[in-house]
Amino acid sequence: MHTSTPAAGEVIDRFADIEILRYTVDGFDDLLPRQKRLIYYLSMAAAAGRDILFDQNGVYNLQVRRLLETIRERYPGRRDAPDFLAMETYLKRLWFSNGIHHHHDNEKLLPDFSPSFFVNAARRCNLLATEIEPLLPVIFDPSVCPKKMNKNKGEDPLLTSSVNFYRGVTRAEADAFYAPAIFPDDRQRPAPGLNARLVKDPGGKLREETWCARGLYANLINKIIYWLDKAAPEADNARQEETIRLLVEFYREGSLETFDRYSILWVQDAASRVDFINGFIETYSDPLGLKGAWESLVYFTNEEATRRAAIICKSAGWFESNSPVDPRFKKENVTGLSARVVTAAMLGGDCFPSPPIGVNLPNSNWIRELHGSKSITIENIIRARDARARDSGVAREFYWSDLERDLERRRGLLTGRLHTDLHECLGHGSGRLLPGVSALALKEYGDVIEEARADLFALYHLADPRMIELGLLPDEEAYKAEYYKFMCNGLLLQLVRVPPGKQIEEAHARDRALVSRWVHERGAADRVTELRERDGKLFLVINDYRRLRALFGELLAEIQRVKSEGDFPAAAALVERHAIRVDPSMHAGILARYKKLNIAPYAGFVNPVYRPLLDPNGCIADVQLDYSEDYASQMSRLRSPE
Ligand code: ZN
Repeated sequence: MHTSTPAAGEVIDRFADIEILRYTVDGFDDLLPRQKRLIYYLSMAAAAGRDILFDQNGVYNLQVRRLLETIRERYPGRRDAPDFLAMETYLKRLWFSNGIHHHHDNEKLLPDFSPSFFVNAARRCNLLATEIEPLLPVIFDPSVCPKKMNKNKGEDPLLTSSVNFYRGVTRAEADAFYAPAIFPDDRQRPAPGLNARLVKDPGGKLREETWCARGLYANLINKIIYWLDKAAPEADNARQEETIRLLVEFYREGSLETFDRYSILWVQDAASRVDFINGFIETYSDPLGLKGAWESLVYFTNEEATRRAAIICKSAGWFESNSPVDPRFKKENVTGLSARVVTAAMLGGDCFPSPPIGVNLPNSNWIRELHGSKSITIENIIRARDARARDSGVAREFYWSDLERDLERRRGLLTGRLHTDLHECLGHGSGRLLPGVSALALKEYGDVIEEARADLFALYHLADPRMIELGLLPDEEAYKAEYYKFMCNGLLLQLVRVPPGKQIEEAHARDRALVSRWVHERGAADRVTELRERDGKLFLVINDYRRLRALFGELLAEIQRVKSEGDFPAAAALVERHAIRVDPSMHAGILARYKKLNIAPYAGFVNPVYRPLLDPNGCIADVQLDYSEDYASQMSRLRSPE
């Protein structure tokens, strides 16, 4: 059997505000049979924990999903009726969000089908009223479970968020419960509560329910263990085998000390071609930032692209000493940077269907300080998104002329990747805090300032002749592709993700607004950049790219000063003035132009299917890739029995 490889970024489904793309696992066929087996087993482990995440995201998620899946499967009525189609769309959205709340803005998804259709359909599928009725308000009443995560001031974030990390516990109680487990970094203690739900007994006593093979989610965790046990003997080297065995031990017993030992081994293993993430990792969905959402990612090194990143990392010292910031704020010895460009082979849990394009782990601060971290950029996901963006018509509608469009077509992919490499490998690692300044001094503005710092470091150096000397860029024009794209996005295009009447919320979006608006305003008198109107539409024109680079340098110096000195008032002023507000009429114009292009603002992916080929002894001799599965079929296949 042989399946042809599709084009990366092909759109295979479209619903609500979402489109589903395919990514391709380039280079898979060149791996050794053992490496392919390893990927196969790790990918099964990556799929096995999916329902953990659904349950973490909300207590009703699995019930609602299973009910809808059953109706979709059994429904005897017309499948092209508007109510049925609306129900199918709702289910597709729920699959995408891993729950009943929007993956990006946390609001509850509201269905476009009627309760009466739903009740009737459920009855025709022989479902019992007792199964359906308790879920009606969960699905249809906007005031029930309105938000996945609620951080509104004055409301208890634990009692008003739908995430299933705390049961009947107030914020004050959770704070008091975990306070004794929070230690300074130098004590080298595990992150408290990372792998457990906090519940209150009827007597009012708080206790943790640990997610492990003997605790909560035992059936799902045992499946993960089953596949990890098969993966271990296929590991790339002895250290990786030990790493996988330690992860199994963690899943069995639930000890976070074991998880830390595992994380240290994992971060020290830089040699394995095939690598993975599997566990309770990111804490963004917990209002208190303690609980890890379950996720998995399986990937292998893209060797050619990693060489490119290695050239950048090796030059870290040069870039640091040639950056335009005050020498007092520069790092003296830039070392220990390692960045890998990888090809994703399987997305699971919180990485599926909407994966990050880069990852830097582990999250434990003391492990990072003592043992370093792994930074990966996911090349094939970036390329798929890029290919989709390229034929979406965005450049035709929003770019000023063929000159910019042509640059984007010829150099956009390359310069975009270099921007990411510079941002991830060097930007975040550059600079230093003055003695006595805390990393948390900028408080709620800290993450925007940090992202802006990394972007500015990347933008400034991208235009350096050094990039050509290092063989990373072909000529002195290439960087302009990224400059135009970045500015156009920051000033205009990214507003398509902001709902009408709302302001810019997300940290990276605020960073891009801050950077682009600051330099635009600063260069206005000399018309370095301009917003010009043509046929009633606004366009960005860049008149002087060299001056624009100098402005990026100027802002980089200031932002580094703010960070190094912990200058909270300056950070607040920069962000409040440039990064948040949206001009309503400009916003409306951009939304209207974007709407005509008929592109969904959010994209996710289906995974390929790995088909093991057995030898006469029943062992896996080879693994083949199959790209033929569509979104709904994949989601239905992943459905696990109750
Ligand atoms: Zn960043």
